[in-house]
Amino acid sequence: DPSCTRAAASAPETSPASAEGAGGPLPVLGRDVRVPLVTGGEVTYAALDYAASAPALQRVWDDVAAYAPYYGSVHRGAGHLSQLSTELFEDSRRTVAEFLGCREGDQVVFTRATTDSLNLLSAALPQGTKVFVFETEHHASLLPWRAHDVTYLDAPRSPEAAVATLESALHGAPAGPKLVCVTGASNVTGEVWPVRELARAAHRHGARLVLDAAQLAPHRPVSLAELEADWVALSGHKLYAPFGAGVLAGRADWLVQAEPYLAGGGASRRVARSADGGVEVEWHTTAARHEAGSPNVIGAYALAAACRALTEAGFDGLVAREEELLARLRAGLADVPQVRVLSLFGEGADQVGVVSFVVEGWNSSHFAAALSAEYGIGVRDGLFCAHPLLRTLLGREGDAPGECGAPEAAPGSPSSAGEAPTLNAVR
Ligand code: PLP
Repeated sequence: DPSCTRAAASAPETSPASAEGAGGPLPVLGRDVRVPLVTGGEVTYAALDYAASAPALQRVWDDVAAYAPYYGSVHRGAGHLSQLSTELFEDSRRTVAEFLGCREGDQVVFTRATTDSLNLLSAALPQGTKVFVFETEHHASLLPWRAHDVTYLDAPRSPEAAVATLESALHGAPAGPKLVCVTGASNVTGEVWPVRELARAAHRHGARLVLDAAQLAPHRPVSLAELEADWVALSGHKLYAPFGAGVLAGRADWLVQAEPYLAGGGASRRVARSADGGVEVEWHTTAARHEAGSPNVIGAYALAAACRALTEAGFDGLVAREEELLARLRAGLADVPQVRVLSLFGEGADQVGVVSFVVEGWNSSHFAAALSAEYGIGVRDGLFCAHPLLRTLLGREGDAPGECGAPEAAPGSPSSAGEAPTLNAVR
């Protein structure tokens, strides 16, 4: 019944959020969550930690709800719902490919999230690949390469310096496969990296480039073709879809030559007992090669729904609105003498709507707890899974060891965990 496909592929026209139209063109879930304050009363929760995980768009939720009654196993049955699910799963792959500006022959592999995507690529690298990565990366793009020969590049202080640093590192690199991994927009500073220039530098030296677009994709259009990148990785839960699905998209050759990321059903085309008594396997050469096991169909469908919603809303309007909000935030923070905004590239750098700051004299965990308790504002605190970058930006160790270690008390902040935090010191 093709109407199922239609029902699942478009948001109901009368969903409460879109009917009200409140909150802009892309309402998210959880806009009206009320939270109690230590001072008494309650306020509407203000989530300012979307860089960690964004709520799902109401429209994504509606799309998923419309599809949910119809889902079945994919690539595993002739039943109606199984076929419908297979169609929607592959359609989701095409939607994501289009959203990411994939080229002819590129593959879109569904993964769990960016971390998973980059680990998959690391596992698929040809023998002897040399990897180049800036020390400023999020741990998800810094750490997966450790099984290879990795060159860690010092933090550049401008986009131009990033390109120059990479050029000189690649210049002396030996022949053979090489990979550069770079984040498009920092989850700490929000600063945008010169991805196309870095990709061109990589290509000039026979290297390939994978883009960690976990933070860039929710804010700016990301096109493999336009950025000239070889692969891109992203997470659905930062792109206004729920948790559970991510993507690795890009060149097929290394992916189809590699052993499957996971061995199992779905990745294999043919399995037989071999003459020597073992088992021989013929693996798929499509994206299915790295998607063994029953795939996360709902997750892929939700991710594609988010791509559709963002595309239809249009990045021009989203960027303009975000820049307005960013300017207000930065101006507000500039008015507080104790606040220092963190930046690697300095004044005037291109930046998405992600800002980190330190409040002098305050431990970041205490400050975040106070924002929540007194104002109902949720922010991310700690070292943001980017310890080396934080060390560079702060010029010292951060104050939340290991991100979840017990923070040390700082002057002006409450001395023990039991004490109610207060923001009087910075008001
Ligand atoms: N890369 C960047 C820049 C990130 O900000 C994050 C998450 O914060 C990741 C990668 C890892 O994403 P995930 O936790 O969804 O795998």
